[in-house]
Amino acid sequence: MRLSRFHLATVKEVPADAEIASHRLMLRAGMLRKLGAGLYSWTPLGLRVLRKVENAVREEMDAAGAIEMLMPSIQPRELWEETGRWEKFGGQLLKLVDRKGAEYCYGPTHEEVVTDFARNELRSYKQLPLNVYQIQTKFRDEIRPRFGIMRAREFLMKDAYSFHVDAADLDREYGNMYRAYERIFTRLGLRFRAVSADSGAIGGSKSHEFHVLADSGEDTIAFSNASDYAANVELAEAVALDAPSTLPGTESELVDTPTQKTIVQVADFLGVEPSQCVKTLVVKSGAGHLFALCVRGDHEVNVVKAAKILGFAGDMVFASDDEIRAEGSEPGFVGPFHLENSMPIKVDRSASKLQRFVCGGNMPGKHWSGATWEGVPHEVVDLRSVVEGDASPDGRGTLEIARGIEVGHVFQLGDKYAEAMGATVLDEQGKARAMQMGCYGIGVSRIVAAAIEQNHDESGIRWPEGMAPWQVAVCLINPKNDAEVAAAATALYEELLGRGIDACLDDRGLRAGQMFADIELIGIPHRVVVSERGLGTGTFEYKSRAGGEAEALDREALLVRLTA
Ligand code: ATP
Ligand code: MG
Repeated sequence: MRLSRFHLATVKEVPADAEIASHRLMLRAGMLRKLGAGLYSWTPLGLRVLRKVENAVREEMDAAGAIEMLMPSIQPRELWEETGRWEKFGGQLLKLVDRKGAEYCYGPTHEEVVTDFARNELRSYKQLPLNVYQIQTKFRDEIRPRFGIMRAREFLMKDAYSFHVDAADLDREYGNMYRAYERIFTRLGLRFRAVSADSGAIGGSKSHEFHVLADSGEDTIAFSNASDYAANVELAEAVALDAPSTLPGTESELVDTPTQKTIVQVADFLGVEPSQCVKTLVVKSGAGHLFALCVRGDHEVNVVKAAKILGFAGDMVFASDDEIRAEGSEPGFVGPFHLENSMPIKVDRSASKLQRFVCGGNMPGKHWSGATWEGVPHEVVDLRSVVEGDASPDGRGTLEIARGIEVGHVFQLGDKYAEAMGATVLDEQGKARAMQMGCYGIGVSRIVAAAIEQNHDESGIRWPEGMAPWQVAVCLINPKNDAEVAAAATALYEELLGRGIDACLDDRGLRAGQMFADIELIGIPHRVVVSERGLGTGTFEYKSRAGGEAEALDREALLVRLTA
């Protein structure tokens, strides 16, 4: 591509309403233009990158044995009524009416359409397994579209659906897709983790999310530094930590803590570590039952785990001061002793390992020091949120915590859709059976933003090789309009193309500084300058976007560098 003929439209100003780096840089590089809330045009430059991602996804899906097809974006209401999702899907579903009054939605996903396709096409187990996919525009009326195409309303998704005669074969294909996803994200040069989205149900996980690690991510994930263990921080299992007692004295005694209520205040006042203290929270179920939850002073109660343990359906609420007093305790001084008559006591694994500890005295101005669990009926449970440095629950390495951007999701649907829509095949015994289904999504357009989050600096984007709009920019610096210099640049550019290198020729006639700023902003991995000075010495100036100084290379050395 000759950039003089292309539409490159970079902007200097930092867009005011763009909150994260990828959104700012996509606007500054001129990859995106906003049309409305959550609606973006991909400029020619943006589209080049999007297509690279799309093609990588397509090639790996094909290589994994999935077959590409294309389904309509507009889907009839009747199909969605069959699965009950016309109502259940909620506000994200954009509903449309045609001139005859027939109702439709703009597809946010395609389980209904593909299951309808399957029930019409597939008759016998002999036609299975089948894995079909498409790369297509979806619409979801997101409550809060933001961060540009990271969370848009209209976006590009790769969605695949597989059909199987039994659960074992679904499981096999799930593994196949899982590995294909690993290849896709590796090939695109992303740092990512597959996170179990299932809370550890026995018999293996039925769902995994693939997260690109980046500070701007909306999810928080915990992962081992030595194994592939990774889980959403809400679900990550917290192991029991040992904490030998460092408390003074050997007896348990009631001590005065006149105004000290929080763990930090109490620990400071008594000169002990928060990890030697037990924090007790009193929570109330919807039915009005109270429970005491105990964690170590340096740990936090995980509300998702707590709600699951206590069997709470809705949000957990804390007991009021009056409710705490009614049970013979005192807000700010709650502790486990003598509470067992009023409410069940749940103790986190690590708190239960404390041999002696500080805890509330259940009366104003008093805490126990040197207390032990002896004589306190309680149940030991996994109640706290993991923290960085915890041992990984799989016994390998320690946990790190990072933010993640969900770029892919693999899911075993079982026979849910096939049952609802009567998608059956005849099995080997000639009996009709609902097919087992898997679904596998990738946010193709979101990957572009996620990649920028991981790869940028103050000058702009630094594309991983597989995603750059061009691999090489040949920059023609030719203020005197010398025909020889122009010819040399064109010759090099054409030679690169001939060798299958995706190159562009920057023949826009800009000053060097301006041109280099653009090329860096849009993130081209390799820059080659052709100028009168270089021609004089028979060299080209080469510079890598990854860093390092500019070097003068002769033609041979340059070609070796660019084809390495
Ligand atoms: P999220 O939790 O981010 O809303 P989701 O779980 O609803 O996503 P899926 O239904 O699993 O999304 O869709 C498959 C993939 O499509 C996601 O992994 C994500 O990468 C992408 N995706 C979903 N919603 C959007 C969106 N609003 N904009 C861009 N990409 C999206
Ligand atoms: Mg998802």
